[in-house]
Amino acid sequence: MNHPGVLIVGQGLAGTVLGWTLEQAGIDWAMIDAGHATAASRVAAGIINPVTGQRWVKTWRIEELWPETRSLYQGMERALGVPLWREIKIRRYWRTDKERRVLQAKCDRGVLAPYVESVNTDHCVLAPAAQVDVPAMLGAARQRWQAEGRLTVGQVAWGKLGQNHSLVIDCTGAAARHGLFAAWPWAISKGEVLRVHAPDLDPGIILHRGHWLLPVARGDAWVGATHEPGVDDTAPTAVARDALLASGQRLTGLNLAPTEHLVGLRLAADDKRPVIGRHSGSSGYGILAGLGSKGVLYAPWLARQWAEHILLGSAFDSTVDILRLNPDNSGPR
Ligand SMILES: Cc1cc2nc3c(=O)[nH]c(=O)nc-3n(C[C@H](O)[C@H](O)[C@H](O)COP(=O)(O)OP(=O)(O)OC[C@H]3O[C@@H](n4cnc5c(N)ncnc54)[C@H](O)[C@@H]3O)c2cc1C
Repeated sequence: MNHPGVLIVGQGLAGTVLGWTLEQAGIDWAMIDAGHATAASRVAAGIINPVTGQRWVKTWRIEELWPETRSLYQGMERALGVPLWREIKIRRYWRTDKERRVLQAKCDRGVLAPYVESVNTDHCVLAPAAQVDVPAMLGAARQRWQAEGRLTVGQVAWGKLGQNHSLVIDCTGAAARHGLFAAWPWAISKGEVLRVHAPDLDPGIILHRGHWLLPVARGDAWVGATHEPGVDDTAPTAVARDALLASGQRLTGLNLAPTEHLVGLRLAADDKRPVIGRHSGSSGYGILAGLGSKGVLYAPWLARQWAEHILLGSAFDSTVDILRLNPDNSGPR
């Protein structure tokens, strides 16, 4: 392979949004991807949830990033001709009275505005939220870029890559913990989801009680997701399936059966912020990774930073720059 511009390794969510953004910025690039068999993006429900966790924490930077994120996916859906972005509400039930009290206290202080639309007897409604059809985006972009000769199918062996590109950006998701950036302080979390048939649900509402149920097309729905920090295998488990089915049934009152059971590994830095920047020992290599469970929201912002860095030499935002992390597993500086 001989190409003067940027080589993106990996066509998951990170690589796809990066490729799209570089293309829009007029930067020359090519891509190589091993296939989506192990991609976390293949199992990502694509939800942007504005408030998460038992302590009802507003998602980091959501207000600032929402317009840019929406505009990128809407632009992609127009260009690729597939629906990708939809705005949706989340009906979240609390599981304990403590959860309700924390929510109420935060609402009283205005901390969660504008995302709590209403608080009811056993649930609240969070809005706006959004959902991006990540598998559809990957498929449509892949088809286009393969036809254009930009995307090659193959597995990069890092030690044998050579220096044919001015810059190589690692977008390999969880595989980045084994590549050139292996020494950085990564944390892994296994996640499982189910596809189920759940007809007659309101398609505009995600139901959430510990787990979420996301209605999609043709009466189908996703139920997810489990989080198992530190678990590094991709085998589907009966324990996760039963827990997700129980949650889905409780949320819908329907007797559900899984049509698919999918597993992925989320990669995050140990401070839970995404990671971009150049390799400290080899500046011809860079990374866009560590998207954790919120890749859909953060990928457009990170990709824009890469485009500005390549074109203008701009510095990366210090909160996500890889320079904040020590490459020796001793944690953030
Ligand atoms: C169960 C589950 C549910 C999730 N739900 C959501 C959600 O609702 N909202 C959200 O924002 N995020 C969600 N996430 C997180 C989201 O999936 C990730 O943040 C995101 O998909 C990571 O994308 P990525 O491109 O970094 O990695 P990946 O999607 O893993 O893509 C990496 C790509 O690189 C390729 N690759 C790897 N090594 C090589 C190599 N050596 N050579 C060539 N190619 C290589 C792989 O084949 C793959 O295609 C979820 C994750 C899981 C596991």
